[in-house]
Amino acid sequence: MSGGDRGVKWVRRGLKVFVAVLIFGLCVWWGTRIKQVFSGVEVWQPKLILDAGHGGEDGGAISLSGEKESEINLSVTLKLENLLAFLGEPALLMRDTDISLHDADSVTLREKKVSDLKNRVRIAGEYPAAVLVSIHQNSYPEQKYHGTQVFYAPTNGSEQLAQVVQQAMRKYLQPENKRTEKKIPDNVYLMNHIGNTAILVECGFLTNPEEEKLLQQESYQRKVVLVLGSTLTENI
Ligand SMILES: [Zn+2]
Repeated sequence: MSGGDRGVKWVRRGLKVFVAVLIFGLCVWWGTRIKQVFSGVEVWQPKLILDAGHGGEDGGAISLSGEKESEINLSVTLKLENLLAFLGEPALLMRDTDISLHDADSVTLREKKVSDLKNRVRIAGEYPAAVLVSIHQNSYPEQKYHGTQVFYAPTNGSEQLAQVVQQAMRKYLQPENKRTEKKIPDNVYLMNHIGNTAILVECGFLTNPEEEKLLQQESYQRKVVLVLGSTLTENI
């Protein structure tokens, strides 16, 4: 072997070592980056979870003019998310499109509904310190009933929060609304299976001719959201 061959061999060996060190270094760097990204997700603890009721095949109540409750719920929720982000309180959303949160192995509508609700309970349980706000629209066989109704979960702080939200809706948007906050009925699964402070806001009645029109208006939804968003940020 000549001196020249030996020199080339050393250069090759040196290059191999350099490449190996480079790859190792990149792996370490990426490992750290990935860890940072994931720990970043874990570190963000939302103070608010917004739950747009129903979704997907489960449209919820249907308005007098045929609008699905699930769509109004989503529209209000997305507006509320925007306002809260603007106010410096980014919220976690259970859903931000027209979907049900059921597991893939659910087949019947009933199975999908049960799975969807269990998944919402699980998500809420991942952030036990967050306040959950569930957005719904009311319905009733008689058309005369109208006005926002706020319900509270049987958990710490929920009744007080429901009270201030109910009063704010009356003060700023519906002076004629004489409703007071109510404990959530036992048959509402999500609100009775979470440990979070939680309220459920029935923004209005889809079965009242005037209110169902208002609830479909972007401008009225913005008013509802303004009252909700400002009251929530002051009270959580
Ligand atoms: Zn509903």
